[in-house]
Amino acid sequence: MTSDEQGFETLAIHAGQEPDPATGAVITPLYLTSTYAQDGVGGLRGGWEYSRSGNPTRAALETCLAALEGGSHGFAFASGLAAEDTVLRAVCKPGDHVVIPGDAYGGTFRLFDKVLQHWGLDYTAVDQRDLDAVRAAVGDKTRLIWCETPTNPLLGITDIAALAGIAHRAGALLGVDNTFATPYLQRPIDLGADIVMHSMTKYLGGHSDVIGGALVVNDAALAEQVAFHHNAMGAVAGAFDSWLVLRGLKTLAVRMDRHCDNAERIVAMLREHAGVSSVHYPDTDEVAAKQMRRFGGMVSFRVAGDEEHALAVCGKTKVFTLAESLGGVESLIEHPHKMTHGSVAGTALEVPGDLVRLSVGIESIDDLLADLAQALG
Ligand SMILES: *Cc1c(COP(=O)(O)O)cnc(C)c1O
Repeated sequence: MTSDEQGFETLAIHAGQEPDPATGAVITPLYLTSTYAQDGVGGLRGGWEYSRSGNPTRAALETCLAALEGGSHGFAFASGLAAEDTVLRAVCKPGDHVVIPGDAYGGTFRLFDKVLQHWGLDYTAVDQRDLDAVRAAVGDKTRLIWCETPTNPLLGITDIAALAGIAHRAGALLGVDNTFATPYLQRPIDLGADIVMHSMTKYLGGHSDVIGGALVVNDAALAEQVAFHHNAMGAVAGAFDSWLVLRGLKTLAVRMDRHCDNAERIVAMLREHAGVSSVHYPDTDEVAAKQMRRFGGMVSFRVAGDEEHALAVCGKTKVFTLAESLGGVESLIEHPHKMTHGSVAGTALEVPGDLVRLSVGIESIDDLLADLAQALG
């Protein structure tokens, strides 16, 4: 059976992870080494030379990531932002232009606005649900459309296949931040994207114990450019971090199904609750139905009343931990206006003060429902 014929769960557990040829160890060993002995000058055993350029634990993760996203090449980085910085400088040059989402992840916006703009990369931020606005923002110098779907924290959905069409007609590439959906729920390369990016810190790692990033591409020339910059810029994932993410990936499918089961129950409860004025979850979106298998573990809602009520809810939960980040097995609650999205207060990206964001974990659903019910009062 070739890996093309294997199912997602099989690939998550086996792709890149054959038993260790030296010992038979079933689990990919943690190769904590910076360098490798050579048999005579230039006589590399198995091609390994120096661990920034390549490490067997990281390589196993990279093979698995590529298989899960349906791409040809995967790359593991020290963080999601390191992956973004590397791919942007691999495919763009100073003077180029990029179209980014109006509500991009805050760190992504900061990278474009405060770092890459000084390097000479221009950007336009638009609401990418409006495809005419995206077409209008694309110009001669546009090299890349960068997309995030679902978005954070309002769970907006953009049409990946439509954006790929717009990008390709303009001679540009489409990059998709697939952190919220994961490849189990959404595969951007199948929909025409050229680059998939992840914060592995979130669902791929899945246990809130590692910071990491990933890129997957499906084109040999693009892979070569990314590989060169991966090594030349050096923001690679360490061996132990790679090992932790590889362990997380093995259970990605079962975790995501439980995240979705629990989120669906919570959404149903919140939609009926008098203390909640609106619920954001993509299960009612036509584009989401077309491009996603299910709708994920992220939910946000507006508390009836004002910001004080929303802050009070965030302070009262006992099973949901008040914290930033997302995608781990444990449920988290946060107040975007004052926490993750504090830096965009006063700008067009500002989020409502009565908004609460949940990263729904995989605890017993009855405990999660009871905790939210008591916090909403
Ligand atoms: C967390 C996150 C990032 C940044 O990843 P780091 O691993 O924190 O560098 C980028 N995009 C999204 C959607 C994220 O949630």
